[in-house]
Amino acid sequence: MTDSRHGRLIVLCGPAGVGKGTVLGRVREQHPQIWLSVSATTRKPRPGEVDGVNYFFMTEQEFLAKEDAGEFLETADVFGLAHYGTPVKPVVEHLEQNIPVILEIDIQGARSVKQRAGELGLDVMTVFIAPPSFEELERRLVGRGTETPEQQAKRLETAKIELAAEPEFDKVIVNNVVDDAANELWNLIATEFNL
Ligand code: 5GP
Repeated sequence: MTDSRHGRLIVLCGPAGVGKGTVLGRVREQHPQIWLSVSATTRKPRPGEVDGVNYFFMTEQEFLAKEDAGEFLETADVFGLAHYGTPVKPVVEHLEQNIPVILEIDIQGARSVKQRAGELGLDVMTVFIAPPSFEELERRLVGRGTETPEQQAKRLETAKIELAAEPEFDKVIVNNVVDDAANELWNLIATEFNL
């Protein structure tokens, strides 16, 4: 028997360069019982990425067939280059077992999850990971040093747009010190799921 009283689905967002992957990685190291949803995507795997672990990699045709069959909680065309989608079934199944589920998706994805949650009988908590300041985010993004000035300018522009979405979120965690941000995120999860 599963307990129908479970915590809210946690949707985690934040601008590129804010360190959300690092914060989430820290929480997962210390609390491996949380489950991170694996998205489907039509983009090509990067070196080291494993099908079924990082993403379910598929062709556009496969993706669209699954979308038509209602298998996704939400989908997005990220950067207009590739489709991404969250498979709905494992999300519901994990929540029914009171296992905390985290979706790490972009802001359009967070918006559609909020819109669709009611119809699926899901409660959602959206969490935004914010930088200590825009200047700090700029430093972190530029500090990667792997991009041309044009690409950097584009990323900063996108980061500004993403930062403007912060007030839409239920909770905001400032990633100043990774351990502190990870503790804050864990405390939110633990409170939701009575852990
Ligand atoms: P990447 O291709 O670098 O792994 O991810 C690109 C962007 O797609 C990131 O902002 C990531 O959060 C977002 N993303 C990954 N999976 C999903 C998904 O299932 N739905 C949505 N809406 N965005 C996703």
